[in-house]
Amino acid sequence: MLSRQRRGELTAALPRCPPERGEPLADVLADVERHVVPGLTHWNQPGFLAYFASSASVPGILGEMLSAAFNVNGMLWRTSPAATELETVVLDWLRQLLGLPEGLFGVIHDTASASSLVALAAARQAVPGLDVRRRGLVGQARLRAYASEEAHSSIEKACIVLGVGQDGLRKVPVDAAYRMDPVALAHAVAEDRAAGWTPFAVTATVGTTSTTSVDPVPAIADVCESERLWLHVDAAYAGTAAILPERREVLAGCDRADSLVVNPHKWLFVPIDLSALYTRRPEVVRAAFSVVPDYLRAAEDAPNLMDYGVSLGRRFRALKLWMVLRAFGREGLEERLREHLRLASVFRADVERDPHFEVTAPTPFSVVCFRALFPDRDEATEDRLNEEILDAVNAGGEAFLSSTRLDLAPGSGPVPAPPRATDMPGRRSGPGGRDGRTVLRLAVGNIRTEERHVRRAWDRIREEAAARRS
Ligand code: PLP
Repeated sequence: MLSRQRRGELTAALPRCPPERGEPLADVLADVERHVVPGLTHWNQPGFLAYFASSASVPGILGEMLSAAFNVNGMLWRTSPAATELETVVLDWLRQLLGLPEGLFGVIHDTASASSLVALAAARQAVPGLDVRRRGLVGQARLRAYASEEAHSSIEKACIVLGVGQDGLRKVPVDAAYRMDPVALAHAVAEDRAAGWTPFAVTATVGTTSTTSVDPVPAIADVCESERLWLHVDAAYAGTAAILPERREVLAGCDRADSLVVNPHKWLFVPIDLSALYTRRPEVVRAAFSVVPDYLRAAEDAPNLMDYGVSLGRRFRALKLWMVLRAFGREGLEERLREHLRLASVFRADVERDPHFEVTAPTPFSVVCFRALFPDRDEATEDRLNEEILDAVNAGGEAFLSSTRLDLAPGSGPVPAPPRATDMPGRRSGPGGRDGRTVLRLAVGNIRTEERHVRRAWDRIREEAAARRS
């Protein structure tokens, strides 16, 4: 599953110069088998339980193939009306599936990183009296954005790109269940205003990368409303769970967000890359990004999606999402998402039953954070042994898991009522998860994963842990 190719192996196997004459496709395909496939880490395998899965379902693959075959560029409505209109229709379908309010404007980007960059650029555009678009940021206000210590690194990157800088992103502490503390957020904003900063945006996360915790969006929205800050919600992974009627509450408060990102290429069986950005203020996004040179002027009164992001050229990504939604339907999607939640709870129960292991975070969705315990060893050794277990399991090829670092000291912040989740008390992460202890992460999300794959992964983990105890 995890590629066993060594660094430089593929490079060494291929000629340094391009071919002079064309070669038969059969030869090229043979080289794909010989040289490329061994260098693949198999994201489509059912034992892929690392990071957040991205799985290619059959309708998703067909949509991708058709898109390549049509080879249209949807930069303007006229350069392929179907590309723009299908994007609009399919994002409205997805909006309905997620239970988001009517009237949201949706646009597809390649990744959540790009979606969040666009959202935060719009937030910067919305700062009154700043006009960064015309004057740039140099010598103007010191802008400040907020996100929790557990927010994804793409938010930090967006701040770097937007000239806000790493110092301009204030990381808000999290509570015992790794959720942003909204009281700390309000204090931080007040403190920053007093110190001459211009607060402008808050990113709340629904489904953080390490533990899938859900920030208290309604309370964060209150702060944003009273402080007039743009609220962006990063629901890249867990937003999809709102398709399940019994999990609708994961997006509670998101109707008050200025923008929200959800990634069908994570947990909706659409092959990478497809990220959906929704906003109730499309005119601000457009004001931030639209630059129309003469050669791109179009007579029609129609939306041109090049106006809502960085890139001019736009792939026909909507097709694969449309094909997935049609082929599975709401029922098919619900069935699969529910099964993934069940598989995670089966695994969690196995870990909880074993006294040699502990679960290290709540499990609101399909990701279980846990570690093997070696009580007679010091912390550094225990961390190293967990890393060794992970490497050994991954090297075996039957399962692929990943790890993170969490501060396992009891939390000190107030703990708001948990979302409906399998919860546990008393854990807090370190800043950005960089400090803290090694924790293993089993993430269910591949469309082909069944109970036997999760059980096999657990057997392998226990075997490797036992081998290090004896
Ligand atoms: N947001 C969250 C919560 C994530 O976990 C990730 C990646 O795992 C991202 C954003 C970035 O996603 P992408 O790879 O689509 O940029």
